[in-house]
Amino acid sequence: MVISSHFIAGAALGKATGNPILAVVFGFVLHFVMDLVPHWNYGYKHLKKVKTLLLVLMDPLLAFALYLTIGLIRGYSASTWLVTFLGGFFCALPDLIEFFIRVFNIKPLIFFLKFHRAVHWFDPHPENIWATAEDEIQFTKKGTFFGILYQIPFVIIAIYFLLH
Ligand SMILES: [Zn+2]
Repeated sequence: MVISSHFIAGAALGKATGNPILAVVFGFVLHFVMDLVPHWNYGYKHLKKVKTLLLVLMDPLLAFALYLTIGLIRGYSASTWLVTFLGGFFCALPDLIEFFIRVFNIKPLIFFLKFHRAVHWFDPHPENIWATAEDEIQFTKKGTFFGILYQIPFVIIAIYFLLH
């Protein structure tokens, strides 16, 4: 899923745990649970297009701005800021790790890519790790629509928990 969805959902789960260590662990695990749900993602080959790169950079910023706004409106305590941030950050972290492994070609960490792809709902060839550039899933218009739509419930439920 996109980073916004992961960050907001992880922050909400972090808030629910109320504990920094649990926020880290559950946030990280939640990432892979969310990836099991059919969804749309920007692929790594699209990062080469400036438009998509801007979108990818905007994505975490938007989530973070929303999170800050909710926290300020609700007057989060220091401990709530901490657990929500840790939950959100660790829920988004696997995509960041994936990004660095690919960009810097970190072969010893290939097991992580294999795992990440294996739990991804769409990947038929989890072993074919480095072939992604040409091999990535192509989304149809309908697939993109539903792939974005399916992320919205996570975000709405998460916003509800962040507000209450
Ligand atoms: Zn992921």
